[in-house]
Amino acid sequence: MKNCGFILLVFAIFNSCNPSVNKRFCTVDDIQRIADDIPVSYENRPPKDGEGRACCKDPLSYVPDTAYLDHTPMRYIKINFHLMNSADSSQFFDEQKSRKYAKSLIWEAEKRIRNNKQMNLPPRNNTPVVPPRYRYKLTPRPDSPDDDGIYCHYNDELYYYINKGKDRNNHKRDVINDCGIQLDTVLNAFLLPIHPDSLKSKTYKGKDAGIALGNAIKVGGHFLGGRMEPWIAQKYFNHEVGHIFGLNHTWRYNDGCEDTPKNPNCWNNKQSPECDSLYSNNFMDYNAYQNSWSPCQIGKMHRTMSNPKNRKRKMVEPTWCTFREDRHIYIQDSIHWKSMKDLEGHLTIEPGGILKISCRVSFPKGAKIIVKAGGKLILDNCTLHNDCGENWEGIEVQEFKNKRGEILFLGEPKIKNIEHPF
Ligand SMILES: [Zn+2]
Repeated sequence: MKNCGFILLVFAIFNSCNPSVNKRFCTVDDIQRIADDIPVSYENRPPKDGEGRACCKDPLSYVPDTAYLDHTPMRYIKINFHLMNSADSSQFFDEQKSRKYAKSLIWEAEKRIRNNKQMNLPPRNNTPVVPPRYRYKLTPRPDSPDDDGIYCHYNDELYYYINKGKDRNNHKRDVINDCGIQLDTVLNAFLLPIHPDSLKSKTYKGKDAGIALGNAIKVGGHFLGGRMEPWIAQKYFNHEVGHIFGLNHTWRYNDGCEDTPKNPNCWNNKQSPECDSLYSNNFMDYNAYQNSWSPCQIGKMHRTMSNPKNRKRKMVEPTWCTFREDRHIYIQDSIHWKSMKDLEGHLTIEPGGILKISCRVSFPKGAKIIVKAGGKLILDNCTLHNDCGENWEGIEVQEFKNKRGEILFLGEPKIKNIEHPF
């Protein structure tokens, strides 16, 4: 109580010597409508109210801005692992080693993501190296205290992987349908041994491989043979997750990204004379490196994860539903957000700062936008909302020495789910 009194005293003195900042939630009188001078180009039709602009669909709008990395909150892809074994448990590691293996695989996969490398193609490129800003989160069932998100199955019908020949089963979903857990909200990763008959056959060409099947991935390999150490298996894992979140192979067709040129799909730089300069190190090609994520590929993945209409978003940890004081974003410069975003804390426009928002942005319960005196917020046909079925606080306008935070409306922005409606 003593401390409390002291703080109140200091506060009173401070207030008596300084002109106070007037804070209140935004009303209609605070809104200035400005003419919409942007050409309408949303698939040749006018945008619907709050729908955002054409830029919201451009993958390049979603490339994390390295000057303001906090404007692209880290995404966590929820995953679980299924390690498939024969009924006599002879075809995969024991349970203890299986758990260790799955955890090492995540660690190795994230290591490559964290250490994104310069693209090797095109030769002498200066493509920026951007942090991919996503990670994996092992996700058990919430109502099962003993569940760790790693499952060992023993099933003679389903345990194996065959990716060549008449018995090929790589594209089949039966193991997913039978053994999958939380398939709607967690990416299920199956690790399957190559069938022992295939391994015995001298003519069998099918090797380690992976496949993405909508809400699950399958990685097949000779795990017991030591050829699928976690640092090798992570290549298949990251690659298939890339497919799940909207990426294509780059070597043969146009993958929708200008920074991933077509290439001869060399395994390494020694395979043939042309491979010397034309080998790819991109994670969506098949090569010995698979350690490079291009900006457009990263943008595409974030676009998928940011789109509430895309069911893959359900596989992303909803970090946007929990308010965090340490995720407060301060805008001090002139910034234009051309992509959908999911914020995790308050957003403050500082004096002199200008923020233009052209797409959907969500705020967690308890968060607010603060427009300080001298700051400017331009809402450009965007939607501000809470994507968790709750309310967020709304927009606070501050006044100081006859200056007021400015709020400008362009088009018909939508402000939804707010505690303090205007
Ligand atoms: Zn592929």
